[in-house]
Amino acid sequence: MYQDPMDPPVHASPPAHSTTTVERGSFCIARCACGWSGPARRSRDRARTDAEEHGSAPDR
Ligand SMILES: [Zn+2]
Repeated sequence: MYQDPMDPPVHASPPAHSTTTVERGSFCIARCACGWSGPARRSRDRARTDAEEHGSAPDR
């Protein structure tokens, strides 16, 4: 089986993690454009921290 030694640069740019926080009742949830969503948090600060941790993760 022939295998190309070099992977073609299909994904030249890193995935854009555009995170937002949505409020649902008294909870706040972090969401990302890639489809990820964090756990429901009581405080918006916690949700924002979740979003930042997700956005800074190397591969999520
Ligand atoms: Zn993401």
